[in-house]
Amino acid sequence: MDPVPRSEYNYANKIVLISINALEEIMGKNGLNAILNLAHLPHLIDNYPPNNLDREFNFADFSALNTALEELYGPKGGRGLALRAGREAFADSLRNFGAMAGVGDMAFKVLPLPAKLRIGVPAMARIFTQISDQLSTVEERENEFVYTIHRCPVCWGRKVDKPVCFIAIGLLQGGLKWVSGGSEFRVNESKCIAMGDEVCEFVIQKIPIG
Ligand SMILES: [Zn+2]
Repeated sequence: MDPVPRSEYNYANKIVLISINALEEIMGKNGLNAILNLAHLPHLIDNYPPNNLDREFNFADFSALNTALEELYGPKGGRGLALRAGREAFADSLRNFGAMAGVGDMAFKVLPLPAKLRIGVPAMARIFTQISDQLSTVEERENEFVYTIHRCPVCWGRKVDKPVCFIAIGLLQGGLKWVSGGSEFRVNESKCIAMGDEVCEFVIQKIPIG
């Protein structure tokens, strides 16, 4: 696997640590070490990023992690693992950021689902925009929310013919489950910068699937 060109953008250490911990939980330490080696990140073995919000983790390295997942487990296996890692990363730790945004408190819990989504989905976008160089915005349509990542750490520097930002889908699904109080939602990546699109775009159906 070729090294990914460096980016001028960085992810907060904490988000990367949460993601790496989720990957380790899913595939075990040996699996994770294989991923880190393949991604040209052997210095991270037993030396994970610190648990702080400093923007020090290059988008290129996060993209390499995701590429290595696919290389090692195949497109389908890698996709499944990335989705799971995204969901678990949110469930484990990222929800704490949401709590800071007031999404988990009692007044929020009693809102009807449409209001929860109308507040919660933009709150998720704001969290990522505030704590990293990943610029995210949300547009509400009649039946869906369009969640747009304008600078994407997941597919940075990649060239593909299908969308590949699965860990972002997992994070969104984890976030939606939490915001809604336990529902599952269909999230489809409709544009991907790695395919030549200007942004990575995720369409979230407002009606839950379960
Ligand atoms: Zn992307």
